[in-house]
Amino acid sequence: MKQLPMVYHKKILVLGLAKSGTAAAEILHDLGAFVTVNDSKPFDENEHAQYLLSKGLTVICGSHPEDLLDEGFSLIVKNPGIPYTNTVIAEAKKRGIPVWTEVELAYRISDAPMIGITGSNGKTTTTTLIFEMLEAGNKQPLIAGNIGTVASAVAAKATNDNIIVTELSSFQLMGTEELKPKISVLMNLYEAHLDYHSSFQEYTDAKFNITKNQDHSDWFIYNGEQQIVKDYASKSNAKKIPFYVSKKTEEGISADDLYVYWNGKMLFERSIIALRGKHNLENVLASTAAAILLNCSLDSIVQVLTNFHGVKHRTQFVREWKNRKFYNDSKATNALATKSALEGFSEPVILLAGGVDRGHSFDELIPHLHNVKALIHYGATAERLQKFGEQQGIPAVIQVNNLIDAIAEGVRISAEGDVILLSPACASWDQYESFEIRGDEFIEQVLALKD
Ligand code: ADP
Repeated sequence: MKQLPMVYHKKILVLGLAKSGTAAAEILHDLGAFVTVNDSKPFDENEHAQYLLSKGLTVICGSHPEDLLDEGFSLIVKNPGIPYTNTVIAEAKKRGIPVWTEVELAYRISDAPMIGITGSNGKTTTTTLIFEMLEAGNKQPLIAGNIGTVASAVAAKATNDNIIVTELSSFQLMGTEELKPKISVLMNLYEAHLDYHSSFQEYTDAKFNITKNQDHSDWFIYNGEQQIVKDYASKSNAKKIPFYVSKKTEEGISADDLYVYWNGKMLFERSIIALRGKHNLENVLASTAAAILLNCSLDSIVQVLTNFHGVKHRTQFVREWKNRKFYNDSKATNALATKSALEGFSEPVILLAGGVDRGHSFDELIPHLHNVKALIHYGATAERLQKFGEQQGIPAVIQVNNLIDAIAEGVRISAEGDVILLSPACASWDQYESFEIRGDEFIEQVLALKD
């Protein structure tokens, strides 16, 4: 880990604990800072705070006291989940105290090259693909972000021979100062997280931070088919690699119906790609471009693309059973994500859906229902999904009590060649603690099917 003179023997406040705040606090402590942590969760219920107190840090829990900043901190590091409207952050801004998110710290404590991946959708899949390709190419990658460990904890143990592959959310990117990935990837920009950001502009500006410090020695891989992304790309100083999923182009990485091309030269056939769907083709092109820039062999790239069946819970292929294929897309907590999943299938699909009713519309699914032979639904959305399915003329619309019953019913009505897809278009909390637990139940049930 690199020493950071700007934190040594300085008073630093870490705001918001959980995994990333705790890691940041510990690292700053190890770097010789005088660290105070502040978290709204009361001390008795706060494992992270108890742990940090035992390591000798100053801990203030249960609220964000108004006079907290009178301590004279020279820097605040915040958990990405803490919004900028938080009173302590707002006051710090007024007093001119710099506020970092945890990834800024990660960037500053390591000289290992960083690959940063952001976008509204496809971050985790692309991050995982890049990691797997670099691993197959013996490039000693480390993975950080949502799926891996916390970015700063990964950076703390990285050597200069490692490459850090980091998924970066808009929350993490907002407020970065010097963060400068060697390769940045911007997948796409859709309306999202408007509960956290004050406007779509603020959200997209935060995403642009991924490339704002890049220069001509760096690379920026981006979606060449989305206007808003192209507009941002024109402001980047990095070397640019656009990706195109719907036509062959002479620049960047592109695909037509049959092949994938690098600067207009054929790289490999699309048929070797195990992942389904056009959205996944975006992820494949972006990650292939990054792997090529990092000198991975085409063999190692192709090997990964042939064997990679999706990150868990993201249109993940689970099993083939009696000539039926089962996919777990439990991560699809809204209609847009379910639409992406449906787009990937031309076979007859039995769709298992339903969950928390946010009153959200299912209309985005309409253009992709032609091969949905049955909608089996459960959960709080029952009434609305029943009506929606009937109105759209889906041949069978069946309401059941829960996911287990939905799987059983799906199996009962299925025929050879069908796809049975869990892609709920709804959050899980009405019946499950998280989408991961819902997906795990699906996997467990499907793997237990007997011949
Ligand atoms: P993120 O980490 O950005 O949430 P994931 O890779 O976890 O993205 O994918 C989440 C869901 O989003 C997937 O289940 C899929 O339905 C959809 N998705 C994945 N990649 C893309 C993409 N490139 N464009 C649009 N939707 C996508």
